[in-house]
Amino acid sequence: MDPLSRRRPSDGELRVAERWQRADDAPRLCDEAPNLKTLRISAEEWRGGGGISGSGHVKIIQVATAPALFLMPCGDPRCKDGGHDITYEVMNMLRSQATQIEGEDGCGGSVGGGECARQLRYVVTATYG
Ligand SMILES: [Zn+2]
Repeated sequence: MDPLSRRRPSDGELRVAERWQRADDAPRLCDEAPNLKTLRISAEEWRGGGGISGSGHVKIIQVATAPALFLMPCGDPRCKDGGHDITYEVMNMLRSQATQIEGEDGCGGSVGGGECARQLRYVVTATYG
């Protein structure tokens, strides 16, 4: 076996490193939306028209320190390359000073060779100073 290929990090490790990189490089939320006071994302996962019990959660964003990057992992542990990136939607919301948006985002990952059927339904609420 070629020793070089054995040392290569796995795809999963690379992806995690990439995300960290992105979070470090991302602009700060407080620079992008200087009058933002609080930001809260409430999300629930759906599949085949029904909510997945136990998947609902609320994320309070630390406005002062958070990067302007909103990535939510897929809740299915078998899901590969999945997840939700709602950065565009949230930043649009903050630019227009909206106090609430709702949306849906399909997971683009794969589970056991098939397409991941999970969908994220989210409500984002913001207050401004
Ligand atoms: Zn998924």
